Amino acid sequence: MEEKGQARDVQTDTFLAQIGNHQNPVTGSINTPIYFSTTYEHPTLGESTGYDYTRTKNPTREIVESALAILENGAVGLATSSGMSAIQLVFSQFPVGSQIVASRDLYGGSYRYFKELEKQGLYQFTYVEDEIGFEKAITDRTAAVFIETPTNPLMNEVSIEKVARLTKAYAAQLIVDNTFYTPLIQRPLELGADVVVHSATKYLGGHNDLLAGAVITRSKAVGEKLAYSLNTTGAVLSPFDCWLLIRGMKTLSLRMERHEKNAQAVVAFLTTHKQIKEVLYPGRGGMLSFKIKKQESIKAFLRNLSIFTFAESLGGVESLITYPTTQTHADIPEELRESYGLTADLLRISTGIEASEDLIADLQQALASLE
Ligand SMILES: *Cc1c(COP(=O)(O)O)cnc(C)c1O
Repeated sequence: MEEKGQARDVQTDTFLAQIGNHQNPVTGSINTPIYFSTTYEHPTLGESTGYDYTRTKNPTREIVESALAILENGAVGLATSSGMSAIQLVFSQFPVGSQIVASRDLYGGSYRYFKELEKQGLYQFTYVEDEIGFEKAITDRTAAVFIETPTNPLMNEVSIEKVARLTKAYAAQLIVDNTFYTPLIQRPLELGADVVVHSATKYLGGHNDLLAGAVITRSKAVGEKLAYSLNTTGAVLSPFDCWLLIRGMKTLSLRMERHEKNAQAVVAFLTTHKQIKEVLYPGRGGMLSFKIKKQESIKAFLRNLSIFTFAESLGGVESLITYPTTQTHADIPEELRESYGLTADLLRISTGIEASEDLIADLQQALASLE
């Protein structure tokens, strides 16, 4: 949680490449050591090295948490066991009966969690589809607003600045799930948000081999409250996983450049293809969705792809294609999904870092086989 020996006095690329370096004056090791020790020796009664027990504080976790805070330009960063535990940690702040406003088009797992909170009678949720919706829904009774931008999977951007003006006026907390854009494309805290969450499983980790979450707060007070709560409830990121996350983040900038370039190439190809009804892409980042004219051919299309892998998740070096209707968003009732445009003809792509020519050729042959 503390910022130790790392300062954002260099360009982001330099900072990322050297996360955790220059930390070990005794050995000079280039890589961050993984501190597996769960407990730490006390010099004497009433004294501590600053490390007592790993749930409370771990040297490897401190490095990744400080890097997360610096990247999002926040006061406090916390590394959690998954994106969902990050979201759960943030919601643990609000008293029973709180009113929450959230984006309609959300990660299906967040929607499922919110439904669960509502079912238990803890909070009331109002879902909105656009900026006008936020203006109507946010009142002085709103405790928090939770948004994803771009939305998932419809890829609509919401203006964080506009929503932040509303949350400030009504003293509500603005929470932004920044998983899709990462701090390299968008830093919500600089745009007025109070808390940022990530599924670090996605772009931050970047290799589809790590489940992790992050919370970054603008204020130190909120960050300390959440750190207290995280130590109390325990869903911290393990030392080994912290190390994997550090390792992944070192190449974030390189990867994002290629993810975006590949997404733009795929968008250009799909936009002119006669089998494609519509392409949804906000113009930035590595995520896009599209609607296929012959919905009944989706099964064959997915089967015929050989470079894209049909799987849920996103943000890794390999390109994935997802069918939100039965995968990521299956927990949202069909009628509701259809009502806001998440129709059964929609597929979502996370472009990896492969050569764009191969990605396009793969899509081309799979579409051609449907004719
Ligand atoms: C995957 C995802 C989550 C959940 O994160 P996990 O790491 O799978 O727990 C939350 N928000 C978004 C936008 C996601 O894509």
